[in-house]
Amino acid sequence: MLNIVLFGGPGSGKGTQSAKLIDQYSLYHISTGEVLRDHMARGTELGKIAKEFIDKGQLIPDDLMVSILGSVLDSLPEGKSGVVFDGFPRTIPQAEALDRLLSDRGMLLDAVIGLEVPDEELLARMIKRGKETGRADDNPATIKNRLDVYHNQTSPLRDHYMNNGKYIRIDGMGDVDDIFADIAENLEKFTGRKPRTRK
Ligand code: AMP
Repeated sequence: MLNIVLFGGPGSGKGTQSAKLIDQYSLYHISTGEVLRDHMARGTELGKIAKEFIDKGQLIPDDLMVSILGSVLDSLPEGKSGVVFDGFPRTIPQAEALDRLLSDRGMLLDAVIGLEVPDEELLARMIKRGKETGRADDNPATIKNRLDVYHNQTSPLRDHYMNNGKYIRIDGMGDVDDIFADIAENLEKFTGRKPRTRK
């Protein structure tokens, strides 16, 4: 099993690198943002609640988010060799809950890959993504809130995972394939696992 958290600010490339990780290591991808956007698109009760927070750039409350993640974990089919968590945890209580959710299922968190990207670049990438995809929370006012939330509530997780020895620092600036190569090299050092193919 290889269970990884992909950590970083909004727009740091978590979605892009997740796609490469799941392909190269045969993993499931759980993006809590995507799970919520899917509920919003289907107009479910959960989607309506999530929209209130997402539109303001705020986090969905921990209890709700943890129970959503538990259900997603329980709905994963058999077959892959682990999970990439993208966008979860975003708070210390969520990190503690993730350890519990995993250990209850006989799983363990192996590593946290931190994509480090300066704020100006995050801002520019989100503005670009908003124009290209129409993603509603990629607008200037919401982006500002999301960056504030990241610095206040999420970035303390960096120290949390540094202290427990799971944090792998990755420079998230530059070419997508070069960043992935850096991730793969570090994952091999850290966990002994190799990607399926090497470029
Ligand atoms: P993302 O696609 O990961 O950028 O998430 C988009 C939005 O969904 C965030 O700005 C939050 O409002 C919400 N969200 C996603 N994941 C979480 C989480 N782990 N905890 C709380 N809110 C979340």
